[in-house]
Amino acid sequence: AKNDGRDRAYTFDHGLAAEVAQRRARETDVRQGIAHGWFELFIQPIVRLADGRIVGGEALVRLRHPEKGLISPGEFIPAAEETGLIRPLGRLILSEAVRKIPALAAANGGSFYLSVNLSGSQVTDTLPEYLEQLLTENGVPASQLVLEIMETALLDDAEKVNRILSRVSALGIRFALDDFGTGFSSLNYVNRFPVDIIKIDRSFTRRLTEDSHEAARVRALVTTSVTLGRELGLGLVAEGIEQAAEFDRSVELGMEYGQGYLFSPPLPHDAFLELARANAGA
Ligand code: C2E
Ligand code: CA
Ligand code: CA
Ligand code: CA
Repeated sequence: AKNDGRDRAYTFDHGLAAEVAQRRARETDVRQGIAHGWFELFIQPIVRLADGRIVGGEALVRLRHPEKGLISPGEFIPAAEETGLIRPLGRLILSEAVRKIPALAAANGGSFYLSVNLSGSQVTDTLPEYLEQLLTENGVPASQLVLEIMETALLDDAEKVNRILSRVSALGIRFALDDFGTGFSSLNYVNRFPVDIIKIDRSFTRRLTEDSHEAARVRALVTTSVTLGRELGLGLVAEGIEQAAEFDRSVELGMEYGQGYLFSPPLPHDAFLELARANAGA
Protein backbone atom coordinates (compact mmCIF):
# COMPACT_ATOMS: atom_id res chain seq x y z
CA ALA A 1 0.00 0.00 0.00
CA LYS A 2 2.96 2.29 0.75
CA ASN A 3 4.09 2.02 -2.87
CA ASP A 4 0.72 2.90 -4.31
CA GLY A 5 1.77 6.28 -5.63
CA ARG A 6 4.87 4.94 -7.31
CA ASP A 7 3.09 1.96 -8.82
CA ARG A 8 0.42 4.16 -10.20
CA ALA A 9 3.02 6.51 -11.64
CA TYR A 10 4.74 3.54 -13.23
CA THR A 11 1.49 2.23 -14.70
CA PHE A 12 0.63 5.68 -15.97
CA ASP A 13 4.01 6.16 -17.67
CA HIS A 14 3.86 2.70 -19.09
CA GLY A 15 0.35 3.22 -20.43
CA LEU A 16 1.28 6.57 -21.89
CA ALA A 17 4.38 5.20 -23.60
CA ALA A 18 2.35 2.38 -25.09
CA GLU A 19 -0.23 4.86 -26.29
CA VAL A 20 2.40 7.04 -27.92
CA ALA A 21 3.94 4.01 -29.62
CA GLN A 22 0.52 2.94 -30.85
CA ARG A 23 -0.17 6.41 -32.25
CA ARG A 24 3.17 6.40 -34.08
CA ALA A 25 2.42 2.99 -35.52
CA ARG A 26 -0.96 4.22 -36.76
CA GLU A 27 0.62 7.29 -38.30
CA THR A 28 3.07 5.04 -40.16
CA ASP A 29 0.20 2.80 -41.27
CA VAL A 30 -1.69 5.80 -42.69
CA ARG A 31 1.42 7.16 -44.45
CA GLN A 32 2.17 3.78 -46.00
CA GLY A 33 -1.50 3.22 -46.75
CA ILE A 34 -1.66 6.44 -48.75
CA ALA A 35 1.57 5.61 -50.59
CA HIS A 36 0.55 2.04 -51.42
CA GLY A 37 -3.20 2.36 -51.89
CA TRP A 38 -4.24 0.22 -48.92
CA PHE A 39 -7.46 2.09 -48.16
CA GLU A 40 -10.77 0.54 -49.06
CA LEU A 41 -14.28 1.95 -48.89
CA PHE A 42 -16.92 -0.31 -47.41
CA ILE A 43 -20.52 0.74 -47.93
CA GLN A 44 -23.44 0.34 -45.55
CA PRO A 45 -26.95 0.63 -46.97
CA ILE A 46 -29.34 3.35 -45.81
CA VAL A 47 -32.91 2.10 -46.18
CA ARG A 48 -36.40 3.55 -46.25
CA LEU A 49 -38.04 2.03 -43.19
CA ALA A 50 -41.50 1.86 -44.79
CA ASP A 51 -40.50 -0.64 -47.49
CA GLY A 52 -36.88 -1.66 -46.82
CA ARG A 53 -35.68 -0.17 -50.10
CA ILE A 54 -32.08 1.02 -50.26
CA VAL A 55 -32.02 4.79 -50.86
CA GLY A 56 -28.33 5.33 -50.33
CA GLY A 57 -25.18 4.13 -48.62
CA GLU A 58 -22.53 5.42 -46.24
CA ALA A 59 -18.91 5.06 -47.31
CA LEU A 60 -16.84 3.81 -44.36
CA VAL A 61 -13.10 3.59 -44.85
CA ARG A 62 -10.89 0.66 -43.80
CA LEU A 63 -7.15 0.19 -44.01
CA ARG A 64 -6.22 -3.18 -45.47
CA HIS A 65 -2.74 -3.69 -44.05
CA PRO A 66 -0.75 -6.47 -45.72
CA GLU A 67 0.44 -7.86 -42.37
CA LYS A 68 -1.98 -6.51 -39.77
CA GLY A 69 -5.16 -7.17 -41.73
CA LEU A 70 -8.23 -4.92 -41.80
CA ILE A 71 -7.91 -1.88 -39.50
CA SER A 72 -11.05 0.06 -38.60
CA PRO A 73 -11.31 3.85 -38.95
CA GLY A 74 -11.79 4.38 -35.21
CA GLU A 75 -8.16 3.31 -34.89
CA PHE A 76 -6.51 5.44 -37.56
CA ILE A 77 -8.75 8.44 -38.31
CA PRO A 78 -7.81 10.18 -35.01
CA ALA A 79 -4.11 9.69 -35.83
CA ALA A 80 -4.71 10.98 -39.35
CA GLU A 81 -6.49 14.04 -37.96
CA GLU A 82 -3.75 14.82 -35.44
CA THR A 83 -0.97 14.60 -37.99
CA GLY A 84 -2.70 16.44 -40.82
CA LEU A 85 -2.62 13.27 -42.92
CA ILE A 86 -6.42 13.48 -43.00
CA ARG A 87 -6.14 16.04 -45.82
CA PRO A 88 -4.51 13.78 -48.40
CA LEU A 89 -6.44 10.80 -47.02
CA GLY A 90 -9.70 12.73 -47.14
CA ARG A 91 -9.15 13.63 -50.79
CA LEU A 92 -8.32 10.04 -51.58
CA ILE A 93 -11.57 8.93 -49.92
CA LEU A 94 -13.64 11.59 -51.68
CA SER A 95 -12.26 10.82 -55.13
CA GLU A 96 -12.67 7.06 -54.64
CA ALA A 97 -16.21 7.55 -53.31
CA VAL A 98 -17.38 9.75 -56.19
CA ARG A 99 -15.75 7.38 -58.70
CA LYS A 100 -17.88 4.54 -57.29
CA ILE A 101 -21.22 6.35 -57.47
CA PRO A 102 -22.26 5.58 -61.09
CA ALA A 103 -21.95 1.80 -60.60
CA LEU A 104 -23.69 1.95 -57.23
CA ALA A 105 -26.57 4.02 -58.59
CA ALA A 106 -26.96 1.71 -61.59
CA ALA A 107 -27.08 -1.38 -59.34
CA ASN A 108 -29.72 0.30 -57.21
CA GLY A 109 -31.98 1.03 -60.15
CA GLY A 110 -30.86 4.62 -60.72
CA SER A 111 -31.89 6.37 -57.55
CA PHE A 112 -29.10 6.44 -54.98
CA TYR A 113 -26.88 8.70 -52.89
CA LEU A 114 -23.51 8.03 -51.36
CA SER A 115 -22.83 9.60 -48.00
CA VAL A 116 -19.17 10.37 -47.25
CA ASN A 117 -17.72 11.37 -43.88
CA LEU A 118 -15.90 14.67 -43.85
CA SER A 119 -13.40 15.74 -41.18
CA GLY A 120 -13.33 19.33 -40.01
CA SER A 121 -9.84 19.92 -41.39
CA GLN A 122 -11.05 18.98 -44.87
CA VAL A 123 -13.23 22.08 -44.88
CA THR A 124 -10.85 24.41 -46.72
CA ASP A 125 -11.30 27.09 -49.35
CA THR A 126 -10.39 24.68 -52.13
CA LEU A 127 -13.02 22.09 -51.16
CA PRO A 128 -15.92 23.41 -53.31
CA GLU A 129 -13.85 23.47 -56.54
CA TYR A 130 -12.36 20.09 -55.74
CA LEU A 131 -15.82 18.54 -55.32
CA GLU A 132 -17.19 20.24 -58.42
CA GLN A 133 -14.28 18.88 -60.44
CA LEU A 134 -14.77 15.35 -59.07
CA LEU A 135 -18.46 15.35 -59.96
CA THR A 136 -17.79 16.66 -63.47
CA GLU A 137 -14.98 14.20 -64.14
CA ASN A 138 -17.14 11.27 -63.14
CA GLY A 139 -20.41 12.49 -64.61
CA VAL A 140 -22.08 12.32 -61.20
CA PRO A 141 -25.07 14.55 -60.37
CA ALA A 142 -24.54 16.54 -57.17
CA SER A 143 -27.78 15.08 -55.78
CA GLN A 144 -26.02 11.70 -55.51
CA LEU A 145 -23.41 12.97 -53.04
CA VAL A 146 -23.99 13.68 -49.36
CA LEU A 147 -21.28 14.83 -46.95
CA GLU A 148 -21.54 13.83 -43.28
CA ILE A 149 -20.19 16.30 -40.80
CA MET A 150 -20.05 16.24 -37.03
CA GLU A 151 -20.79 19.21 -34.84
CA THR A 152 -17.18 19.33 -33.71
CA ALA A 153 -16.20 20.09 -37.32
CA LEU A 154 -18.36 23.20 -37.18
CA LEU A 155 -16.91 24.54 -33.95
CA ASP A 156 -13.85 26.49 -34.98
CA ASP A 157 -14.18 29.57 -37.14
CA ALA A 158 -17.88 28.98 -37.69
CA GLU A 159 -18.16 31.88 -40.12
CA LYS A 160 -15.50 30.57 -42.45
CA VAL A 161 -16.83 27.01 -42.25
CA ASN A 162 -20.32 28.25 -43.00
CA ARG A 163 -19.09 30.19 -46.01
CA ILE A 164 -17.36 27.12 -47.47
CA LEU A 165 -20.22 24.75 -46.74
CA SER A 166 -22.66 27.16 -48.34
CA ARG A 167 -20.61 27.13 -51.52
CA VAL A 168 -20.63 23.32 -51.51
CA SER A 169 -24.35 23.37 -50.83
CA ALA A 170 -24.90 25.70 -53.79
CA LEU A 171 -23.45 22.99 -56.03
CA GLY A 172 -26.38 20.77 -55.02
CA ILE A 173 -24.36 18.55 -52.68
CA ARG A 174 -26.25 17.84 -49.46
CA PHE A 175 -25.03 17.76 -45.87
CA ALA A 176 -25.92 15.34 -43.12
CA LEU A 177 -25.35 16.26 -39.49
CA ASP A 178 -23.69 13.13 -38.09
CA ASP A 179 -24.15 11.70 -34.58
CA PHE A 180 -27.00 14.15 -33.96
CA GLY A 181 -27.84 14.66 -30.30
CA THR A 182 -24.42 13.82 -28.90
CA GLY A 183 -23.13 17.38 -28.98
CA PHE A 184 -23.88 20.52 -27.04
CA SER A 185 -26.29 22.35 -29.28
CA SER A 186 -27.29 20.16 -32.18
CA LEU A 187 -30.49 22.07 -32.77
CA ASN A 188 -28.55 25.30 -33.08
CA TYR A 189 -26.36 23.86 -35.84
CA VAL A 190 -29.34 22.92 -37.95
CA ASN A 191 -30.18 26.60 -38.11
CA ARG A 192 -26.72 27.98 -38.70
CA PHE A 193 -25.35 25.59 -41.31
CA PRO A 194 -26.74 24.23 -44.57
CA VAL A 195 -28.00 20.92 -43.17
CA ASP A 196 -30.27 18.64 -45.26
CA ILE A 197 -30.23 15.39 -43.30
CA ILE A 198 -30.03 14.56 -39.60
CA LYS A 199 -28.48 11.28 -38.47
CA ILE A 200 -29.73 10.32 -35.03
CA ASP A 201 -26.84 8.78 -33.12
CA ARG A 202 -26.88 5.10 -32.26
CA SER A 203 -26.73 5.85 -28.53
CA PHE A 204 -30.31 7.16 -28.93
CA THR A 205 -31.53 4.40 -31.21
CA ARG A 206 -30.30 1.86 -28.68
CA ARG A 207 -32.24 3.44 -25.84
CA LEU A 208 -35.53 3.82 -27.68
CA THR A 209 -36.64 0.43 -26.45
CA GLU A 210 -35.49 0.81 -22.84
CA ASP A 211 -38.02 1.33 -20.13
CA SER A 212 -36.47 3.98 -17.93
CA HIS A 213 -36.62 7.63 -17.05
CA GLU A 214 -33.54 8.19 -19.23
CA ALA A 215 -35.21 6.42 -22.15
CA ALA A 216 -38.26 8.65 -21.89
CA ARG A 217 -36.00 11.67 -22.29
CA VAL A 218 -34.31 10.10 -25.29
CA ARG A 219 -37.68 9.46 -26.92
CA ALA A 220 -38.61 13.08 -26.29
CA LEU A 221 -35.42 14.21 -28.00
CA VAL A 222 -36.08 11.94 -30.98
CA THR A 223 -39.70 13.08 -31.24
CA THR A 224 -38.56 16.70 -31.18
CA SER A 225 -35.99 15.96 -33.89
CA VAL A 226 -38.61 14.26 -36.03
CA THR A 227 -40.90 17.29 -35.71
CA LEU A 228 -38.03 19.64 -36.46
CA GLY A 229 -37.00 17.54 -39.44
CA ARG A 230 -40.53 17.55 -40.83
CA GLU A 231 -40.96 21.29 -40.47
CA LEU A 232 -37.61 22.08 -42.03
CA GLY A 233 -37.96 19.43 -44.72
CA LEU A 234 -34.93 17.48 -43.51
CA GLY A 235 -34.29 13.78 -43.99
CA LEU A 236 -33.97 11.78 -40.77
CA VAL A 237 -31.82 8.68 -40.50
CA ALA A 238 -31.79 6.47 -37.39
CA GLU A 239 -28.27 5.09 -36.97
CA GLY A 240 -27.30 1.70 -35.59
CA ILE A 241 -30.59 -0.17 -35.79
CA GLU A 242 -29.66 -3.67 -34.63
CA GLN A 243 -32.90 -5.15 -33.37
CA ALA A 244 -36.44 -5.50 -34.65
CA ALA A 245 -37.73 -3.64 -31.58
CA GLU A 246 -35.46 -0.66 -32.37
CA PHE A 247 -36.76 -0.70 -35.92
CA ASP A 248 -40.40 -0.77 -34.75
CA ARG A 249 -39.86 2.04 -32.29
CA SER A 250 -38.07 4.17 -34.90
CA VAL A 251 -41.04 3.80 -37.26
CA GLU A 252 -43.50 4.59 -34.45
CA LEU A 253 -41.63 7.79 -33.67
CA GLY A 254 -41.85 8.88 -37.30
CA MET A 255 -38.31 8.17 -38.48
CA GLU A 256 -38.25 7.69 -42.23
CA TYR A 257 -34.81 6.18 -42.88
CA GLY A 258 -32.48 3.85 -41.03
CA GLN A 259 -29.11 2.20 -41.07
CA GLY A 260 -27.73 -0.64 -39.00
CA TYR A 261 -26.73 -4.27 -38.63
CA LEU A 262 -30.40 -5.32 -38.75
CA PHE A 263 -30.37 -4.43 -42.45
CA SER A 264 -26.70 -4.96 -43.25
CA PRO A 265 -23.20 -4.30 -41.91
CA PRO A 266 -20.86 -2.17 -44.04
CA LEU A 267 -20.04 -4.27 -47.12
CA PRO A 268 -17.13 -4.42 -49.57
CA HIS A 269 -17.99 -2.73 -52.88
CA ASP A 270 -18.89 -5.90 -54.81
CA ALA A 271 -21.04 -7.32 -52.03
CA PHE A 272 -22.89 -4.02 -51.83
CA LEU A 273 -23.55 -4.06 -55.59
CA GLU A 274 -25.01 -7.55 -55.28
CA LEU A 275 -27.27 -6.55 -52.40
CA ALA A 276 -28.40 -3.39 -54.20
CA ARG A 277 -29.28 -5.34 -57.36
CA ALA A 278 -31.31 -7.86 -55.38
CA ASN A 279 -33.00 -5.07 -53.41
CA ALA A 280 -33.87 -3.05 -56.52
CA GLY A 281 -35.16 -6.10 -58.36
CA ALA A 282 -37.27 -7.38 -55.47
P1 C2E B 1 -19.91 7.05 -37.99
O1 C2E B 1 -19.79 8.03 -39.10
O2 C2E B 1 -20.86 7.37 -36.90
O3 C2E B 1 -20.25 5.66 -38.69
C1 C2E B 1 -21.10 4.68 -38.14
C2 C2E B 1 -20.32 3.58 -37.47
O4 C2E B 1 -21.24 2.69 -36.84
C3 C2E B 1 -19.52 2.71 -38.44
O5 C2E B 1 -18.35 2.27 -37.76
C4 C2E B 1 -20.47 1.54 -38.68
O6 C2E B 1 -19.82 0.37 -39.11
C5 C2E B 1 -21.06 1.38 -37.32
N1 C2E B 1 -22.39 0.74 -37.35
C6 C2E B 1 -23.28 0.71 -38.36
N2 C2E B 1 -24.40 0.05 -38.00
C7 C2E B 1 -24.21 -0.36 -36.73
C8 C2E B 1 -25.02 -1.11 -35.80
O7 C2E B 1 -26.14 -1.54 -36.08
N3 C2E B 1 -24.48 -1.32 -34.57
C9 C2E B 1 -23.24 -0.87 -34.23
N4 C2E B 1 -22.78 -1.15 -33.01
N5 C2E B 1 -22.45 -0.17 -35.07
C10 C2E B 1 -22.94 0.09 -36.31
P2 C2E B 1 -16.91 2.32 -38.46
O8 C2E B 1 -17.03 1.94 -39.91
O9 C2E B 1 -15.97 1.58 -37.60
O10 C2E B 1 -16.56 3.87 -38.43
C11 C2E B 1 -16.33 4.52 -37.20
C12 C2E B 1 -16.20 6.00 -37.38
O11 C2E B 1 -15.02 6.32 -38.13
C13 C2E B 1 -17.34 6.63 -38.17
O12 C2E B 1 -18.46 6.81 -37.32
C14 C2E B 1 -16.71 7.92 -38.62
O13 C2E B 1 -16.76 8.89 -37.60
C15 C2E B 1 -15.27 7.51 -38.86
N6 C2E B 1 -15.07 7.27 -40.29
C16 C2E B 1 -15.37 6.17 -41.03
N7 C2E B 1 -15.05 6.34 -42.33
C17 C2E B 1 -14.56 7.61 -42.42
C18 C2E B 1 -14.08 8.40 -43.51
O14 C2E B 1 -14.04 8.00 -44.68
N8 C2E B 1 -13.65 9.67 -43.21
C19 C2E B 1 -13.68 10.17 -41.94
N9 C2E B 1 -13.26 11.41 -41.72
N10 C2E B 1 -14.14 9.45 -40.90
C20 C2E B 1 -14.58 8.19 -41.13
CA1 CA C 1 -21.06 9.03 -40.46
CA1 CA D 1 -22.83 8.52 -37.14
CA1 CA E 1 -20.10 8.06 -34.63
